[in-house]
Amino acid sequence: MEQRGSIIRGLLCVAVASALTLAVLQLTRESFVQIGRATAQPVDVTQEMPSEDIVAKAFGVTVEEARERLQQAAPETGESESERKSRQADALGKIGLLSLGVIIVFAFRYFFARGQQFFLSRAAARLSTNLRRRLYAKLMRLPLRYYGEKRLGGLQSVLTNDVNVYQNAISLVRDSVDGPIKAVGALTFIFVTNWQLGLIALAFVPVIGAFAQRNSRKMRKAQAQVQDDLGDLSTLSMESMNGVRIIKSFAAEGTMTQSFDRAAERSYQSQLEAIRRVSSLKPMVELIGATALAALIYVCGWLANWGVLAVADIITVTLAMDYVKQGFNSIANAQNVYSQVQAASARIHAEVLDCEEEPMALPGQIELAEVAGRVEFESVGFIYPDGTEAVRGVSFVLNPGESLALVGSSGAGKSTIADLLLRFNEPTSGRILLDGVDVRTLRGDWYRRRLGVVPQQTFLFAGTVEENVKLGAPEATREEVERACRAAHADSFLDAMPEGLDTVLGEKGVRLSGGEGQRIAIARALVTQPAILVLDEATSNLDTVSERIVTDALAEAMSTRTTLFIAHRLSTAARATHILVMRQGEVVEYGRHEDLLASDGFYSAMYRAQAAGAEPVA
Ligand code: ADP
Repeated sequence: MEQRGSIIRGLLCVAVASALTLAVLQLTRESFVQIGRATAQPVDVTQEMPSEDIVAKAFGVTVEEARERLQQAAPETGESESERKSRQADALGKIGLLSLGVIIVFAFRYFFARGQQFFLSRAAARLSTNLRRRLYAKLMRLPLRYYGEKRLGGLQSVLTNDVNVYQNAISLVRDSVDGPIKAVGALTFIFVTNWQLGLIALAFVPVIGAFAQRNSRKMRKAQAQVQDDLGDLSTLSMESMNGVRIIKSFAAEGTMTQSFDRAAERSYQSQLEAIRRVSSLKPMVELIGATALAALIYVCGWLANWGVLAVADIITVTLAMDYVKQGFNSIANAQNVYSQVQAASARIHAEVLDCEEEPMALPGQIELAEVAGRVEFESVGFIYPDGTEAVRGVSFVLNPGESLALVGSSGAGKSTIADLLLRFNEPTSGRILLDGVDVRTLRGDWYRRRLGVVPQQTFLFAGTVEENVKLGAPEATREEVERACRAAHADSFLDAMPEGLDTVLGEKGVRLSGGEGQRIAIARALVTQPAILVLDEATSNLDTVSERIVTDALAEAMSTRTTLFIAHRLSTAARATHILVMRQGEVVEYGRHEDLLASDGFYSAMYRAQAAGAEPVA
């Protein structure tokens, strides 16, 4: 609303400022008429006019009319000395008034020009701020799948480069009003002064229009390429920053620099193409405008010679032609910026706004009054969009309070099962039930809050410990946060910190050790009092002491909740009520640790191998 108001006010200011600029044309003409009066020497109007016939024929002006015009500008012969003096004094007085008029017009214009700048800049700032907010909110609503498909650097570029283009669109709005007003106003002025001159000026309009049109088409293509290449650059830089450890450990700095150089060069070339378009635009409009001006001056010369046009008219027509040229420059510039905005807008829509959202709260979806925590997979299968069949026919029942460990080698489908339970993906066949209800019929946001997730890699954002713990439960009280931290065994190290829960984490704050981070992650999962825990066992980073504390914390948390966990070490799997052994997307064994060991199958073979010191299974 504020935005629309600003744009309307800004545009009104542009319109008034442009109209006031045109008003100066009239004042200038009057001034020159008066200068003519002040300096004119008496002429004999009865003397023969030059080329009377031509004038009469070409412009439909009779000899009498032409004489009359000359007379207006210059006094008749026989003017007395005192008459001459009073004529000059009168003319000079009027020039003074007219000059004052020019100052007054520009003083007015000052306010409108200031308003134009202020309102349009404010609208642009609002527009881009709102766009950023809309994009972020949309990004939050997009499914996890989306992030697997998109390159984050490209998204980053959309959020910065493309949104910034919108901010520049202020000149588009200004020029698309200022340009036409100036061009049409000045052309009308020329027409009113002399319609034949108006026709000459008008003849050049289609020439400029055709050129600008052609340029704008090419500009649009060039601009889309510029934005795409900038996106690639930003993707590369972001990936390199994230992977800097790997790059350095492989001494691949040179290789990476070379591929960045190549991408940067491509981006330079596409910018160059756009620069070529922009560079030729203004000079071309000026060239065409100058040709029109030359033609006008030439014809003006003849008209003046025939007495059809006064010197004041010639000067103002010349000035008006300059305004016409300025107007077309603005229109061409607006077209240019429009191509940029179109390219940016196309990317913003294709990359973010038009992407399909995660269905979180569909009509008809329900919430359960109470959750006991019974999880059932009924012959669940899942095929990734690229055709990979990750799991098939997976069935199991997990009763409230029980735990299930997923084991199997890498790529067996363990994460896919956890993701299906979290509803990051929907089964392509079969059903997942919570307390006997198909989870697809449950409200997505409500459902996720019933689950507490501890991922393999802890994600802590810049903020206090408390804010990090409260991520999924912003309404949690201090006591609840403290309880969760105690349950996660995080209180021992937090108590040692002078600021405790208020300790600031992140880039500029305290850095936690791997084990401490894990415990904050567990506290975060527990603070919502979830009925179900989903854990992905951390495989590295922890020393023996931290590992024991983390394992104990998890074991306690699991003891009262339904838990599904991905076990990378079979020793931890042994703690679960049941174990599901996966192989190439299928369940190969299911049962209690002791029973599976006794059955001497796949699990017991893995167990023996790991006990003998082989690597963890994943
Ligand atoms: P695990 O967690 O047991 O290592 P995953 O569930 O990650 O196994 O993977 C199971 C199978 O699905 C593998 O063949 C893997 O390559 C494939 N897969 C995993 N994620 C995707 C994805 N986003 N797109 C396509 N295939 C995938």
